Amino acid sequence: MTAKLILGTEIREQILEEITAEVKELKEEYGKVPGLVTILVGENPASISYVTLKIQTAHRVGFKEVQDSQPVDISEADLLALIDKYNKDDSINGILVQLPIPKHINEKKVLNAIDPDKDVDGFHPVNVGRLMIGGSEVKFPPCTPAGIQEMIVRAGVETKGAEVVVVGRSNIVGKPIANMMLQKGPGANATVTIVHTGTKNMEAHCKRADILIVAAGVPGLVKPEWIKPGACVIDVGVNRVGEKISEKTGKKVAILKGDVDFDAAKEIAGSITPVPGGVGPMTITMLMKNTLKSMKFQLGIA
Ligand code: NAP
Repeated sequence: MTAKLILGTEIREQILEEITAEVKELKEEYGKVPGLVTILVGENPASISYVTLKIQTAHRVGFKEVQDSQPVDISEADLLALIDKYNKDDSINGILVQLPIPKHINEKKVLNAIDPDKDVDGFHPVNVGRLMIGGSEVKFPPCTPAGIQEMIVRAGVETKGAEVVVVGRSNIVGKPIANMMLQKGPGANATVTIVHTGTKNMEAHCKRADILIVAAGVPGLVKPEWIKPGACVIDVGVNRVGEKISEKTGKKVAILKGDVDFDAAKEIAGSITPVPGGVGPMTITMLMKNTLKSMKFQLGIA
């Protein structure tokens, strides 16, 4: 059996087209487009490339995009004042502070200063609480878990009553996706187990999974024999295992592998995400979805 591939690269295109169409309609009706500000402190090359990708995507879907670059020695007080300025700016619906930020600034204090109603990353404790309560309380589900749920739904995988096993319990992936999948409602209503380094017999838990979500950051952690035949396997792991020369650009690029032994797993699973090209492209896509949602909340139409 060869599993159906669940491609984030394809699903991203569908969702970005949907967002673009909705932004156009809302602009015609309300004369307003969603505003997203990205605050970048310093010149970390990886941060610059993430921010660039976010900016390009925001432009593509028709958002007002503000890139606010600040010097590496900005004081904590000045950064907090900047966030306060955007909190009060009605043309801005989403505020992102690109991490990491320099050590002299308290990261928690900065992230908690973002108005929870503009926290489109969904990491503010208020939004974590809203996610836990579920239902109509949820404003901004965190982007990677939201992308995972969207992929499962769009792949047509039944979640109601499914055994979902999540490998990993981080605050950005494992815990929120487990919480989302157990909520009562569409795309969820599953029976959820989380496994981690303290789990006895991880293999036995994974073998029960109708939907196996792996976010450990350990290449090849999940062996093919741990997969239930026909299961949906979502591999969140992105592990750099070496370098190669790109055929397209002739430049050195990282060789990426997931947490699942993909080649063998695809012969057992019913559906599976590859790495790269699986979950990866979904995170920025869902960030755009949250920013659009934020403007709809502001307009009272969400
Ligand atoms: P993290 O904060 O390091 O958490 C990893 C989790 O996996 C921890 O809960 C850890 O357990 C568990 N774990 C690690 N090794 C394990 C093992 N041998 N057996 C069982 N559990 C194990 O990582 P993260 O931020 O959630 O990210 C996980 C992976 O997803 C990384 O490869 C990351 O690059 C990738 N990722 C991708 C995207 C994307 O594609 N958009 C977004 C976010 C993350 P303990 O809690 O017991 O230590």
